[in-house]
Amino acid sequence: MKIDRIIHSRRKTFALVIEPDGRLTVRAPMRASRAQIERLVREKTTWIQEKQAWVQSHPATPAPKSYTDGELFYYLGEPIPLQIVPAAAPALRLEDGRFLLARRALPRATRVFTNWYRQQARLVIGARAAERAAEFGLVYRSLRISSAQRRWGSCGAKGTLNFSWRLVMAPPAVIDYVIVHELVHLEIKNHSRLFWERVASLAPDYRQQTAWLKANGRLLSL
Ligand SMILES: [Zn+2]
Repeated sequence: MKIDRIIHSRRKTFALVIEPDGRLTVRAPMRASRAQIERLVREKTTWIQEKQAWVQSHPATPAPKSYTDGELFYYLGEPIPLQIVPAAAPALRLEDGRFLLARRALPRATRVFTNWYRQQARLVIGARAAERAAEFGLVYRSLRISSAQRRWGSCGAKGTLNFSWRLVMAPPAVIDYVIVHELVHLEIKNHSRLFWERVASLAPDYRQQTAWLKANGRLLSL
C-alpha cells in the first residue's frame, strides 16, 4: 500500500486520511517510526482500499478557491501549494513547486489564475497537439483555448480544435488522450465503434484516462 504523505506532529494517536483525490496521508506522533506506520497501514489495508474506492467514485464538488496560503492548485496533475507574497511581478508565477501570488492581486485572484492557466494551456496543449497531429499525419486548421466547464475538448466542422483551459490542470496522459480524441474527430465525426477503435490504436490506455476524467473532472476548477 502506497503512503503518499506522512505528517509528524505533537499528537498522541495515529490517523489515516484519504484525501479527496484518493491519496493516503498518515498523521503520526512525533516519535513514530516508519516501521510502526507501515504496520498500521498494513493492518488497515482493507479499510483504506474501500475508502479510496468510495472517494474515487464520489467526487466532491469542490468549494470555490479561497486563495489562502497552502491551498492546492492543480497543474499537469500535480497539487501545487499557494503562497501569498508581499510583491511579485508578474502577479502570479510558478516557482520551486509553489504558486507565488502578489498580495495586491488577491481581489482579482480568480482572473489572474484563469489567465495563467489559459496561457499554459495554449503552450502545453498547443505543442502537444501539433506533435501528435504530425505523428499521425493529421491536419487541423486552428486550435482555440475555451472556457468550457465540463467539455474538455471539441472539434469544429471546419477542423478547428477547441480545448478548455481547465484541461491543463489534468495529468499529461489525460491531456494527451483528449488531444487524441479530438484529432480522431477530424476523420470520424461521431462516436461509433470505428471511432473508439481508432482512439484505442493511438492511445491504448485511453479507458484509464476517461475514467480519471469521470472521477476527477469536477476538481479541475477554480
Ligand atoms: Zn468526441
